[in-house]
Amino acid sequence: MNIQTNYNLQPLTSFGVPALVKGFATFDSLDSLQELLAEATGYSQSLILGGGSNMLFTKPYDGLVLHNQIKGIQLLEEDDEHYYVQANAGENWHAFVQYCIAHNYAGIENLSLIPGNVGASPIQNIGAYGVEIKDVLHEVTAWHLQDKCLLHFAVADCAFGYRESIFKSQYKQQLAIVSVTFRLNKKATLHTSYGAIAAELEQMGVHNPGIREVSEAVIRIRQSKLPDPVVLGNAGSFFKNPVIEKSHYQQLQQSFANIPDYAAGESHTKVPAGWLIEQAGWKGHRQGQCGVHSKQALVLVNYGGASGADIFQLSQQIIDDIQQKFGIELEREVNIF
Ligand SMILES: Cc1cc2nc3c(=O)[nH]c(=O)nc-3n(C[C@H](O)[C@H](O)[C@H](O)COP(=O)(O)OP(=O)(O)OC[C@H]3O[C@@H](n4cnc5c(N)ncnc54)[C@H](O)[C@@H]3O)c2cc1C
Repeated sequence: MNIQTNYNLQPLTSFGVPALVKGFATFDSLDSLQELLAEATGYSQSLILGGGSNMLFTKPYDGLVLHNQIKGIQLLEEDDEHYYVQANAGENWHAFVQYCIAHNYAGIENLSLIPGNVGASPIQNIGAYGVEIKDVLHEVTAWHLQDKCLLHFAVADCAFGYRESIFKSQYKQQLAIVSVTFRLNKKATLHTSYGAIAAELEQMGVHNPGIREVSEAVIRIRQSKLPDPVVLGNAGSFFKNPVIEKSHYQQLQQSFANIPDYAAGESHTKVPAGWLIEQAGWKGHRQGQCGVHSKQALVLVNYGGASGADIFQLSQQIIDDIQQKFGIELEREVNIF
């Protein structure tokens, strides 16, 4: 029996809060996952752990946590324009991005330095600097934990949206994603107009960038703005950017003339949650052992010694305050257990 009981996940999650779970086991192949599931009895629920960078445990978890460590990357096929590259779920995401850059597979360089593993990348359709995983995804292969069968999802099956997918809704906690195949480009189309990438490239003295330079620029920007979870516990953006009706946005503009916005269709507008939180005075706020990061208001941090419940409570106070000040309901991006 490879299942450890009463296991503390604290070092395996980027928030670094105490996270006692009833059972914990690691698997490194589909066979070993199936063996574990056959051995595991008496668990009413289970969840897959990847890099632990998008989770907050607020209470002991009365279930089985299965840590996906299936490794391996392979080039499945290529055509005139694309490489089809399959990465197993336990591969570290940023290491995979670097692997692709080293092989000149273009398309995910803007997603450099996002923490976590490949298996979780489709779950919230990870995105940064104008690129989302949906733009390059070819197929997701997943094991259905209850039905005991392999499922294959083409990009059209994944119901991708902003930080959303079918894996977070209809199939929530029902699947173990075992591999993801990406359709990467032979000829790079660089996305340098988003955020500060062009300015960073300029500062680097790069006038004719390739995917390696764009990746390097993204890494530099991220390192200057976001706290390193190894140093300061966090899970990146704690909240999603809310999408509100245009009429609501226009009404807010009367009180907050400089309220920023991003296009979100004909009738809606996306507002940066970080701006709302900063405007409401929370940026840099510390409450006991947790707080709101001083450089990025969207990121809640654990200064060391906070509990998941402390961080959750702080997030609720922020949600209530933003609701009261702007009439906008913030939604958590981080998975709460
Ligand atoms: C500093 C920092 C910056 C970040 N920046 C970004 C960013 O720019 N863009 C962005 O989109 N995200 C960002 N994130 C969030 C996070 O990195 C991503 O959501 C990442 O994909 C999570 O991967 P993970 O392996 O750590 O998932 P985990 O935290 O381990 O799991 C997240 C969820 O996915 C499920 N899951 C994980 N693996 C599997 C699997 N193989 N099969 C089935 N279910 C699974 C878990 O059960 C859980 O519900 C950031 C986080 C941090 C700490």
